[in-house]
Amino acid sequence: MSAEQFRRHGREVVDWIADYYERLESLPVLSTVAPGDVRAALPAHPPEHGQPFADVLADLDRAVLPGITHWQHPGFFGYFPANASYPSILGDLLSAGLGAQGMLWATSPAVTELETLTLDWLTELLDLPAAFRSDGPGGGVIQDTASSAVLVALVAALHRASAGKSGQTGMPQRHTVYTSQAAHSSVEKAVRIAGVGTDNLRLVDLDPASQSMRVEHLRRLIEADLAAGRVPTLVVATAGTTSTTAFDPVARIGPICASAGAWLHVDAAYAGVAAVCPELRWINDGLSYADSYSTNPHKWLLTNFDCDAFYVADRAALIGALSVLPEYLRNAATESGAVIDYRDWQVPLGRRFRALKLWCVLRWYGSEGLRAHIRGHVRLAQDFAEWVQADERFEIVAPHPLSLVCFRLRGADEPNEKLLSQLNAGGKVFLTHTRVNGGYTLRLAVGSPATQARHLEEAWQLIRELA
Ligand code: PLP
Repeated sequence: MSAEQFRRHGREVVDWIADYYERLESLPVLSTVAPGDVRAALPAHPPEHGQPFADVLADLDRAVLPGITHWQHPGFFGYFPANASYPSILGDLLSAGLGAQGMLWATSPAVTELETLTLDWLTELLDLPAAFRSDGPGGGVIQDTASSAVLVALVAALHRASAGKSGQTGMPQRHTVYTSQAAHSSVEKAVRIAGVGTDNLRLVDLDPASQSMRVEHLRRLIEADLAAGRVPTLVVATAGTTSTTAFDPVARIGPICASAGAWLHVDAAYAGVAAVCPELRWINDGLSYADSYSTNPHKWLLTNFDCDAFYVADRAALIGALSVLPEYLRNAATESGAVIDYRDWQVPLGRRFRALKLWCVLRWYGSEGLRAHIRGHVRLAQDFAEWVQADERFEIVAPHPLSLVCFRLRGADEPNEKLLSQLNAGGKVFLTHTRVNGGYTLRLAVGSPATQARHLEEAWQLIRELA
């Protein structure tokens, strides 16, 4: 493809994307294809001869688009959001255009330095503890996802708890990990990957009203493990659980971790970015105890997937656990000790220039724009919760401090399951479900940048009609 052809097709692609956003609302939120439909609509074998780019775009419309669930649709209320925005798309395009690989500072200094700067900016925007800034022993790095963040936190915690031996001789002692029953499944996945074993994962009970971790139970579990000669190594607290946005009491969990010598990781994958609003800064309570922290701008801060901001208060254990330096990566900058090599902060060696899209978002919106984005969604969710509350057929089953509302028809599960499947079949909205205290519960998560008050009104109208 020549530069001239790239210019032409590039404009077509940008137009395609802008058109997509303009007609998004008219598309059914959920893809309705059956398994195998997308593949069957496309040639089974690769072309022998190069094809016009117009054919690719035509197939995108014909065969790919029907198989897309439209996460940016204003009626997308499922899971947690995965925000996209024009400035972020442009940042990602620039990253693809540069095609730089930033495994070492030396392989493209700007890839590293812009990432460090952007993550320092984010500590200011979210009012995170100064320990997470890069100008002390700590610092931030962009991981692909919150799942990778908890995995590297665990590996760092194992390194610290074993004085470096976990990486050399395997696990020298029996290490234990603690998290609540409502923690994200990525904690168990990390425990399995790191070889800790699920028999060493302790699931702490929940308080039924708040759905957050019962601190007394955590204390008892840790004491029992200490008495049995095990090594409490990592506690994962969640700030905004996936099921209900419950907040574990980090300020009370922190001192327990400190006295047991356990690493405290705070997983704020969805909720953390809401701290851009001063009135929501309570979500950071207790963070000064955290050894590591992660939040996903790719969920709710207008940044395209993937972008998880991961911070450590002291990077020594992380780098100690993950740094392997073969001859072919040796270079003067690394040896000077004056630079960050982010390959030592993550599982893969190579890394793309993800900071560009976050940088573009922070610059385009400014903190006031980001605050407006979060506040708008919180307000819409609170309005929705009021409507649900006022209808006696329904109950709200968990606190809803941000933009997720968990609700159900009073009584048996079955009418709730039916309501959800009818709602989602209509093409206008998409909600997901969870279980709260055993009961089948609908989750409505406001988070698409396109969602406005009228979309919530329409969703509530549909819910009432179908209930
Ligand atoms: N932690 C929490 C609290 C989440 O809600 C989620 C996803 O919803 C995750 C972790 C996993 O996120 P990721 O897809 O970035 O791994």
